[in-house]
Amino acid sequence: MVNKTCHQLGTAPSVIRELFAYGLQQAAAIGAENVYDYSLGNPSIPAPEKVNQAICDILRDTDSIQVHGYSMAAGFNGTRNAIAANLNKRFGTDIKAENLFLTCGAAPALISVIKALAVDNNSEIIAVAPFFPEYRPFVESNGAKLVVVPADTEAFQINMDALEQCITPCTQGIIINSPNNPSGVVYTRQTLEQLAVILTRKGEEYGHPIYLISDEPYRELVYGGVEVPFMPTIYKNTIVCYSYSKSLSLPGERIGYVCVPDSVENAADVYAAVAGAGRAMGHVCPPTLMQLVIERCADELPDLAAYDENRLLLYGALTEMGYECAKPDGAFYLFVKAPNGDANAFSQKAKLEHNLLVVPGDGFGCPGYLRLSYCVSGDMIRRSLPAFKAMIESYR
Ligand code: PLP
Repeated sequence: MVNKTCHQLGTAPSVIRELFAYGLQQAAAIGAENVYDYSLGNPSIPAPEKVNQAICDILRDTDSIQVHGYSMAAGFNGTRNAIAANLNKRFGTDIKAENLFLTCGAAPALISVIKALAVDNNSEIIAVAPFFPEYRPFVESNGAKLVVVPADTEAFQINMDALEQCITPCTQGIIINSPNNPSGVVYTRQTLEQLAVILTRKGEEYGHPIYLISDEPYRELVYGGVEVPFMPTIYKNTIVCYSYSKSLSLPGERIGYVCVPDSVENAADVYAAVAGAGRAMGHVCPPTLMQLVIERCADELPDLAAYDENRLLLYGALTEMGYECAKPDGAFYLFVKAPNGDANAFSQKAKLEHNLLVVPGDGFGCPGYLRLSYCVSGDMIRRSLPAFKAMIESYR
């Protein structure tokens, strides 16, 4: 016998992975230049040179036992100090090493926080559509209920009335993700301030804090000078889940953190429960080499020129053809309305007729839309445009 929930999760098909696998298979059969794969969100710009240099320097200069050894469960103080200094310099906060718990990326950070907040089977965690599909298993596997705020398909901000209706005495937390996967939209300061007002009011009404879980792997991926407000400066009960997967193009190296600022109500208990959740799942002591790299590279920023070129090229071309698309200010995704509203049919037809691989929005809680990851080569985008044109024309 095996655990039913785990078995289900392990065997449930992933549309994104299936499209990606199909793309690889087609590339082998008809040539990679004839396949237009927008399925995966795998960074396509190299990690900053300073990161590679730091790896070489650390391997050369540091005792091998230490580089490959365990750290403390929460991570090295030096790394946590460097991260805290970076955040404080940029956002005027007073975060300290003790507020940070290093993790193997954003996924374990999120799971640890959700587990820490899922007090019993009645606990509810809210997500705002469209949302990263893994939130569902992260929440449900911890015995809590995922409550979804329907998407605001006008601007892809947050539908505040719908959100307010989703909050109940059982609401423990709400996850937000800005810049957003899959919409590419950045929540405005006005949206976030409105959100803070509602959460504060509801928290007071129910007599317990409603924690905001701010999932920020794309925090640094923003274009045209658009502001990405740092949520702890707007709402005191914010817990940040961060990852270097996208900002430093290091998804395979598995490094990120949870930040529980002192302003969070019961901060010490929340931090202890996050640490305990990490312990329960074995999510402790992330890769030592990467911790040492982040200590040296906490101030590094990505060179976004290639993503920005892709964004402008694809957004410009698709909207000119007549596609409707959320304004893409951040991350590396476009969220495009399916021409006749049926994103699954569009995705299937595009795949079979043009080897054009785009992800239907159903799994993101937003049917009728298609996610395109533009972390690809500009050349592939240019080659794919006739396929997009043929697709939209076939619906006219
Ligand atoms: N949250 C969002 C919104 C993501 O898009 C991703 C990865 O794509 C993650 C979390 C997980 O990131 P990580 O690779 O750091 O675990």
